[in-house]
Amino acid sequence: MATLDRTARSFLLTELVSGFMLTLRYMFKPKATINYPYERSPLSPRFRGEHALRRYPNGEERCIACKLCEAICPAQAITIEAEPREDGSRRTTRYDIDMTKCIYCGFCQEACPVDAIVEGPNTEFSTETREELLYDKDKLLANGDRWEAELAANLQADAAYR
Ligand code: SF4
Ligand code: SF4
Repeated sequence: MATLDRTARSFLLTELVSGFMLTLRYMFKPKATINYPYERSPLSPRFRGEHALRRYPNGEERCIACKLCEAICPAQAITIEAEPREDGSRRTTRYDIDMTKCIYCGFCQEACPVDAIVEGPNTEFSTETREELLYDKDKLLANGDRWEAELAANLQADAAYR
């Protein structure tokens, strides 16, 4: 009986027809996928992407070299060196993040008293070599300059919950 059933199904192409019906049904349903990179899904203001060092609107670096971010980083990915400037202010002379060590926990951002080091919305920073993921201060400040509008908007949106 089972053989007869299988043979009948093969001749009548019932499985093929039910497969087509399923395809037809899903053709008219809302799509579950997006056409990346032309379409993007929304990101939370708390999304932890690529790091950036921010500046004040007058161009001055926010970072005051307190090293809290370096101390709290569980991956020991941050290296900071600092010395006082001629005007007495304290600024970093070196600010490196080894992005190959970073686990994107966001602790550095949480620890920073002046919102200098932040994790932005950028997810597209894959590289071909490991060396390119050893970020220095110039790279981090350039990231901050590039993403400042989004970073400021994200911090503002999250401010009520911090
Ligand atoms: S996100 Fe976490 S692991 Fe990465 S640099 Fe900041 S504190 Fe370190
Ligand atoms: S980025 Fe923030 S926490 Fe880190 S040294 Fe600078 S001011 Fe301190």
